[in-house]
Amino acid sequence: MTHLALHRRKALGDVLLTLPLALELRAAGHTVSVRTDPRLQPLLDRCGALTRCPTGAVELDLQRPRSAVPGLGGGLGRPPLLDPLRRLLHRPTHLDGVHTLDRYRAAAGLPPGPLPILARGSLLDVEGDDGGRGEEVVRVGLVPTASHGARSVPAEALAFACAVVAARSGRPVTAVVLAGGAEPPTRAVVDHLRRVACVVDVDTRALSGGPVRLAELVAGCDLVVGADTGPLHLAQALDVPSLVLFGPTSVTRWGPWRASARAYTAGLACSPCSGHGQTPCRFGHRACLTGWSPSGLASALEGLEAAGPGSWVGGRARRVTIKFDTHSPS
Ligand code: SF4
Repeated sequence: MTHLALHRRKALGDVLLTLPLALELRAAGHTVSVRTDPRLQPLLDRCGALTRCPTGAVELDLQRPRSAVPGLGGGLGRPPLLDPLRRLLHRPTHLDGVHTLDRYRAAAGLPPGPLPILARGSLLDVEGDDGGRGEEVVRVGLVPTASHGARSVPAEALAFACAVVAARSGRPVTAVVLAGGAEPPTRAVVDHLRRVACVVDVDTRALSGGPVRLAELVAGCDLVVGADTGPLHLAQALDVPSLVLFGPTSVTRWGPWRASARAYTAGLACSPCSGHGQTPCRFGHRACLTGWSPSGLASALEGLEAAGPGSWVGGRARRVTIKFDTHSPS
């Protein structure tokens, strides 16, 4: 057994994507902790599967995968982190069970492709805030914006998703606008949602809270739809059904790894065009997202209905009664 400390300092989505790897390492018999930004640490501390490592733990810097791992070595000609990971997991093919970060797959000699699906159940010990709505409405978390604008999703697509959910569930929708990246949603997006007939309320409380508050609100949603951002990774960590709209970023690299999650993509030949959506569209139209297809979105949402008893059509099976008594700084 080795005491391991995984370092991933930013950002929310990347930090949460360390969880499958951390759990795989733990299943291989190691003591594992994840060290991160102090604002995100409370979330990771609520992941009961992880423990605090004693001092002297082997440090694995996932933020800099080419950095050396003292005592565990690394292979020549490829990122040094890969060989230590294979050694720690004992079974190279078992890298199948960690989140891709494509390089992990490469280490195991696996081709690129969709990620394996973990068992259902929340990875985080978080109870949701359902806004006191009972089961009469469907709470749909919406993430319109990302830290890089090229990943942002048109308000019309999110409004359409609400309409599909309302039509298929027979219940009205409360739109829960969730923070994504550094860009707050524009007033225009919120106003647009308020004008959609099936949306009876727009809940913007998540915009002023920290990561733990965000997690409470995500956990209280029946479904989360939006841009490739941290809140969508949070939905997966909490096993809340989710649909991620991908445009300039890679579905293979950042795509869903849960049975309760789906990806939507327009399938353009130019996509993906950047690692994080930091590059402006070279055509200037962002058709990968602005050209979203109603039939494609509807069929992706319908695919989620088969995701099991937590599906949004029947309402969440989980009762929401407990809140955190502490909050991280925003
Ligand atoms: S180049 Fe293609 S994938 Fe990239 S932003 Fe433009 S339309 Fe989207």
